[in-house]
Amino acid sequence: MSEFIPFAVPDVGEAEIAAVVETMRSGWLTTGPNAAALEREFVAALAPDGADVERWHAVAVNSATAGLHLALEALGIGPGDEVIVPTWTFTATAEVVRYLGATPVIVDVRPDTLNIDFDAAAAVVTARTKAIMPVHFAGLPVPRGVMADFAAAHDIRVVEDAAHAHPVRSEGVSVGLGESDAVVFSFYATKTMTSGEGGMVVSSNAELTARMATMRLHGISRDVFDRYTSTAPSWHYEVVAPGFKYNLTDVAAAMARVQLTRSAPMWERRSAIAAYYDEVLADLPLRLPARPSDPGTDHAWHLYTLRLSGDGRMGRDEFIHRMSAAGIGCSVHFIPLHHHPYWRAFRGTNAPTLPVADREFTSVVSIPIFSAMTDAQVERVGATVRAVLGGGS
Ligand SMILES: *Cc1c(COP(=O)(O)O)cnc(C)c1O
Repeated sequence: MSEFIPFAVPDVGEAEIAAVVETMRSGWLTTGPNAAALEREFVAALAPDGADVERWHAVAVNSATAGLHLALEALGIGPGDEVIVPTWTFTATAEVVRYLGATPVIVDVRPDTLNIDFDAAAAVVTARTKAIMPVHFAGLPVPRGVMADFAAAHDIRVVEDAAHAHPVRSEGVSVGLGESDAVVFSFYATKTMTSGEGGMVVSSNAELTARMATMRLHGISRDVFDRYTSTAPSWHYEVVAPGFKYNLTDVAAAMARVQLTRSAPMWERRSAIAAYYDEVLADLPLRLPARPSDPGTDHAWHLYTLRLSGDGRMGRDEFIHRMSAAGIGCSVHFIPLHHHPYWRAFRGTNAPTLPVADREFTSVVSIPIFSAMTDAQVERVGATVRAVLGGGS
């Protein structure tokens, strides 16, 4: 039998390995010159024509979860506050709200994109609502204008969970450089660029960024890099708040810097795989992933999520079982938050049922799409989906 094709494999090459080794030899392992360079380069990569780079600040962190937490903390979210979160996401999006003692209000998603449904969100807004956290599911951006209009209409803050959405544009502007208060990216091992574990927060709000930079390292008012390189006495620092330990190591940052230079070709590879799947799976009893509806919007293709047809021919679990038996790893994105025991109680009181998520959950399955896939692997995944669903070859 042919080799197993895992659901996701990081695309790490010799250049990443060399950069990590060089950093290990440099004597500087923790947050330092590589992390600082990554912050500058990340913003520059989002603004390729150099437009307005100075307006944007990036804060490197050791996970997107940390970044989401820092962003809400810096916005002053706390006990008594409510934050609207879509049910179609990873638990990290909602858990950071609980870290701060605030209440996530979990709402339904749109059936086409599985992104947050703003009508459902509007129905749960109360005087306590302070923020909304749109998630760009699979890498298909929530429209920038819709997010900004919603925030303005309800006078609330926006923290984008962009863990799936690098490097793409929403309505002509890079995700990260829109109107939101903060945008959070993930460099987790399976994400579209990786440092093993890591993340980045991007914001145009200097005050917010300063708070995040302080809180990322113990609430110390100058970060380690400054502490060891500035002319002030190297032993001196001030603790201004009970901060966290969320800084990105230079070993991880060295890897991320190389990945960042490869993010365009890695994205092109995933886009080509998605185009191939769209074509080879078009006549099967399933729904293909939603495409961007506007020419200035891209899809990052972090995930390629099918919806098996409801005609009863084959259940989702049986499909995954047969794919696995044929040597192909699949996954489910996501188990809706409100299906988990802990989150069940956090549905909005005006929206006790989340019918779209409940319905779509029974049919979703994600098939492998990662930039290191070979053509042979891509073709085998396509052919196996066809064989399992009885589409012939
Ligand atoms: C991966 C992921 C996160 C968490 O990212 P980490 O870097 O692992 O903390 C948050 N939200 C979504 C939607 C994710 O897929």
